[in-house]
Amino acid sequence: SPLVSIDNVDMRYGGPDGTLAVAGLNMKIAKGDFCAVVGPSGCGKSTLMKLVTGLHIPQSGVVIVAGRQVTEPVSIVGMAFQNPTMLPWRTTLENILLPLEIVERHRKRLRRHKREYVEKAEHLLETVGLKGFGSKFPWQLSGGMQQRANLCRALIHEPDLLMLDEPFGALDAFTREELWCVIRDLHAEQGVTIVLVTHDLRESVFLADRIFVMSARPGRIISEHTVPFARPRE
Ligand code: ADP
Ligand code: ADP
Repeated sequence: SPLVSIDNVDMRYGGPDGTLAVAGLNMKIAKGDFCAVVGPSGCGKSTLMKLVTGLHIPQSGVVIVAGRQVTEPVSIVGMAFQNPTMLPWRTTLENILLPLEIVERHRKRLRRHKREYVEKAEHLLETVGLKGFGSKFPWQLSGGMQQRANLCRALIHEPDLLMLDEPFGALDAFTREELWCVIRDLHAEQGVTIVLVTHDLRESVFLADRIFVMSARPGRIISEHTVPFARPRE
């Protein structure tokens, strides 16, 4: 059975007369997939992400993640958003450990194995090119560096599902392509299931194996594609 299953979901903001953000949404994501969701601004991409992560509960239809209907925030998911939201009073490393503190089943493990998790965070920082920056505060990092740190935070608890909402949006072209490779390797090596939301078609084709195209008003998926050609892999 699919890791994520969205069945006939409607999501409306602001009460019964509010904006119908997505309507009749159907989507299945298999374990190990690398999916991209593309579409114009306002078509409901972020709404889709929030439905899968349990930050929004739909008015009708069902979202199932790992065999369970989503009725509250889902703990097996790692998330990285366009605007890095790090706590300014914590160091980068302490920010990266945050998901472990929030999820109860990780909290005990964090207390017991603090040293291991710190090492893991440091390893992730190295992977994204931020070796040695763990002790800096977020405001001491550039926008691009914060994005990378954000990615580390999404990965620290080894999520089964990684949700990326325009995580490369604010980056310069070089940093972006560097991070693309980090993500692609991550998918190839660890087999983590990834859903990437982007309005950049080139990005979606470079990274994903399956592409869902959305249209707006109300948001729905109008087509689904398998990327048909072998992409260059180093
Ligand atoms: P995208 O991520 O593709 O830009 P969103 O999911 O953010 O699209 O938005 C889909 C639609 O829902 C848009 O019309 C947007 O204006 C509306 N919307 C999103 N969030 C809210 C909200 N909190 N309150 C009211 N309307 C919202
Ligand atoms: P980015 O391209 O990631 O947004 P910048 O162009 O702002 O980064 O910075 C370029 C480089 O300068 C970074 O990759 C990093 O090596 C270094 N740098 C930026 N901010 C800091 C900082 N606060 N402390 C140390 N080095 C920094």
